[in-house]
Amino acid sequence: MNDFGVRDVDVVVIGAGQAGLSGAYHLRRAGLEPDRDFVVLDHAPRPGGAWQFRWPSLTYAKVHGMHALPGMELTGATADRPSSEVIGGYFGAYEDAFDLRVHRPVDVGAVREGERGRLLVETSSEGGYATRALINATGTWDRPFWPRHPGQETFRGRQLHTANYPGPGAFAGQRVVVVGGGASGTQHLMEIAEVAAGTTWVTRRPPVFREGPFDEDAGREAVAMVEERVRLGLPPRSVVSVTGLPLNDAVRAARAKGVLDRLPMFDRITEHGVAWNDGRTIEADVILWATGFRPVVGHLAPLRLREPGGGIRIEGTRAARDERVHLVGYGPSASTIGANRAGRAAVREIKRLLDRNPVGV
Ligand SMILES: Cc1cc2nc3c(=O)[nH]c(=O)nc-3n(C[C@H](O)[C@H](O)[C@H](O)COP(=O)(O)OP(=O)(O)OC[C@H]3O[C@@H](n4cnc5c(N)ncnc54)[C@H](O)[C@@H]3O)c2cc1C
Repeated sequence: MNDFGVRDVDVVVIGAGQAGLSGAYHLRRAGLEPDRDFVVLDHAPRPGGAWQFRWPSLTYAKVHGMHALPGMELTGATADRPSSEVIGGYFGAYEDAFDLRVHRPVDVGAVREGERGRLLVETSSEGGYATRALINATGTWDRPFWPRHPGQETFRGRQLHTANYPGPGAFAGQRVVVVGGGASGTQHLMEIAEVAAGTTWVTRRPPVFREGPFDEDAGREAVAMVEERVRLGLPPRSVVSVTGLPLNDAVRAARAKGVLDRLPMFDRITEHGVAWNDGRTIEADVILWATGFRPVVGHLAPLRLREPGGGIRIEGTRAARDERVHLVGYGPSASTIGANRAGRAAVREIKRLLDRNPVGV
């Protein structure tokens, strides 16, 4: 920690994406003052949470459906504008409208047990905060998941992850293998196939395409599946990963052209591409890993919240092992609507915790 010392606050919110902003909004509504009673810290340079880093060709028309933050309509969301711009602008306006005073860029390196029953939040540039409660809203974007495969280090071409996907232009004339059966993988493929010399899609399990609208029942079912994992203390899967791939016109057209013909996972990576044990090989200039993300919770390690299964068990939003810690945008609440609700639920419980001990020692 640096020389800024330690300041007492009631609540620290880490992360100013959908989940953190929802939490901050509800803290304010509950009568807490920013910079006096709570602080919001975010290590990204601008408003927008992870959306600010998403590739320019991810236009608003291509996202699954964003829920506005509580208390303010989302405006300026025309179909062909990049989502990064739409959401970045909206979050910035939201922070101003509700005077949420996000501190950025401020990185939280660790949260550990402090003195007087408080948690000590250690930051890169503001010293420490001794807080009575924590809303952890750090999302998943900063922790791309790269599976390991034999021969990976021998590949002479380029390997990159969705987290660094620059848009299709970078793949003109190249042979690209896309790994991963989620929404990002299919979107990358459909874009890249327009300009590449060839594309190959590889997934661990056969992809599931979903006919019909993604209604509330389907949403509830998906959330319940993730909730069950978290309840068992297992690492969560993303809500989006269990919803299946929506069959829209673009996907139907891509399937008709063969762009979404899928191969099972290869067995190894070679200098020049990928290979299966049955003798089949495919040459490639690029392997693009659209293999998802994992929750960003490393900074909470000193609190020992993890279960033997590797996940953090939560009850509602509260960590089962520490009632001062709430995880929002985690597991079942890792969607824009889930994050909204989780922010509200976390603040309701935190308010009760603070009211139980109003002097704040
Ligand atoms: C490609 C893609 C498309 C998606 N599309 C949709 C969609 O259409 N609809 C939908 O509902 N969901 C979608 N999702 C899921 C989506 O990411 C969530 O719904 C939501 O935006 C996540 O919000 P969040 O606040 O939890 O996380 P984030 O937006 O990731 O915000 C977390 C914030 O925490 C900050 N942070 C992290 N670690 C630290 C630290 N140690 N110190 C300080 N700050 C830190 C980061 O800088 C970031 O600003 C998509 C996800 C992906 C990957």
